[in-house]
Amino acid sequence: MKIRILDASLARRIAAGEVIERPASVVKELVENSVDAKSESIAIELEEGGARSIVVRDDGDGMDETDLTLCVQRHATSKIAREEDLDRIATLGFRGEALASVAAVARVRIVSCPFSDQEAHEVRVTAGELEGPFPAGRGRGTTVEVRDLFFNLPARARFLGAARTEFLHSSRAVQRMALATPAIGWTLRHGERVALEAGQAASLLERIAQIYGAEVARALVPLEVEREGVRVSGYVSRPDLRRGNRRDQLFCVNGRPVSDRALSYVLASAYQRLLRPGAYPVAVVSIDLPFDQVDVNVHPRKEEVRFGASRAVQDALAQALHVALGSPHVAAPLLPEGRPFPARKAAGDSVAEPRLPLRVEAAVRQALRDQTDVRVEGTRRAIGQLHRTYLLVEGPDGLEIVDQHIAHERILYDGLRAERAKGEIPRQRFLIPVRLELSLEGAALVAAAREDLEQAGIGLDEFGGGTFLLREYPSLLAERQARQGFQAPIERIAELMGGGEKPKEALFHQLFTEIACAAAIKAGDRLPLDEQQRLVEQLMALDDWQTCPHGRPIVFAVSREELARRFQRR
Ligand code: ADP
Ligand code: MG
Repeated sequence: MKIRILDASLARRIAAGEVIERPASVVKELVENSVDAKSESIAIELEEGGARSIVVRDDGDGMDETDLTLCVQRHATSKIAREEDLDRIATLGFRGEALASVAAVARVRIVSCPFSDQEAHEVRVTAGELEGPFPAGRGRGTTVEVRDLFFNLPARARFLGAARTEFLHSSRAVQRMALATPAIGWTLRHGERVALEAGQAASLLERIAQIYGAEVARALVPLEVEREGVRVSGYVSRPDLRRGNRRDQLFCVNGRPVSDRALSYVLASAYQRLLRPGAYPVAVVSIDLPFDQVDVNVHPRKEEVRFGASRAVQDALAQALHVALGSPHVAAPLLPEGRPFPARKAAGDSVAEPRLPLRVEAAVRQALRDQTDVRVEGTRRAIGQLHRTYLLVEGPDGLEIVDQHIAHERILYDGLRAERAKGEIPRQRFLIPVRLELSLEGAALVAAAREDLEQAGIGLDEFGGGTFLLREYPSLLAERQARQGFQAPIERIAELMGGGEKPKEALFHQLFTEIACAAAIKAGDRLPLDEQQRLVEQLMALDDWQTCPHGRPIVFAVSREELARRFQRR
């Protein structure tokens, strides 16, 4: 490792800012350095929540004498050297500012040894004043001690919370890092107490079990999808495991724990129908993509990133979640594979037609009765509704089973997008406007986006106190659909916008997805046969009618051949 001082023009391109707010910020920066140094085990010790002392010991690639004196200077880093390096950062750190910032507000001592057969050295820095290097004793690796944080900024020190609160922040930072690095062994102590002990883990699942317990680990399903250069992996909880907040959700982008509103939102959407409001899944999700597709130089504490193609990332996550959470009732084969067909005929019996399950039979009989007055355009004929959830369709090559909600969602979504592509979406007025209730913060955000929303076919009047009147809706929707279709989407949009500027198109995508979902026919809605037929025809007219905007399948087909095989017709 060779540390250099960045030249002024490169230093200026680095998104600097307030880095050290509290002990947890120090802990985060120090453990990031230990991870970047390729340590195999990292030990952290805090006293009094970290305000009195923070010690981080690692066994990574240490620093020699020269590096030790450089590392505490501003813009001193071994991780980047040229402007181009900013476009492909593979390390957690890259600004060369953390140690300098810490050393400016605390008493710091760093002991480091680059190789086991070399001598160790130490430097001490107090409020920016460097002493050393002196020879010291320790094996390969680095120890950083930070004492009396903010001793020279008493006003700042007074703002620190109770030791327990401060420790909790640090502990969360360490947990997140530990989840991002299963191969590294971690220990965290607060005074006498061991708060975390996680030996090197063989897998992410093992690491999750170390941190959240075996019970949580058992309630997880794996994620695994790769598309358009984006790989999504990790674990999410089954719907029967839930949390009261989002704290146990972690996204790692190329190994870096980050917060990303849009990704959290995709996660929340995937669970929308599975969890009641206020319940959140556990998730540890890794997103890996080429380094040049992610800008990590956007947030002072490096907690957020910007994607080159954020839609592709969101779609990959949505698809991975969809596959993992599945809709077993949609995707599972009608009869489980490998189980012999039960009704074996006895010798001498005539070949009996196997009976359809009763409810299917009832649906088919009802359909036959209704059938006469329905006009069929094209090659598909709706023959009835199953469980008021699936449409049974006679297709050109067998039976097609269509999820009525997802199909309608897709039709509405594509319709909205097609209209948007032509310009402003045509609007229709309610006779009696619909009241929407938002939080005060949400209301402010929505008020600021009124023009954009109008382009999306949504006319709102602000009523005050968080209330809006929805006057106009996209005329593509039926009045009945529009009445129920906006409270949730507008809430979500406010939540999304709270995350900062979002490109308008991404917002529209989310908005349309939400509207389509909220306004679409639901599972459980009874549909007359002519409406079933119309839905099927609208669906087949789309370019891609196989999957919904989130990648869920819409149609499950049983081919004529399969039917013949099941009934042993040959
Ligand atoms: P950055 O991590 O952005 O490069 P820092 O101020 O955090 O900046 O650290 C400065 C430099 O000091 C790093 O680039 C690295 O070379 C060295 N360094 C810091 N901590 C360690 C450590 N635990 N082990 C080895 N080298 C370290
Ligand atoms: Mg660093």
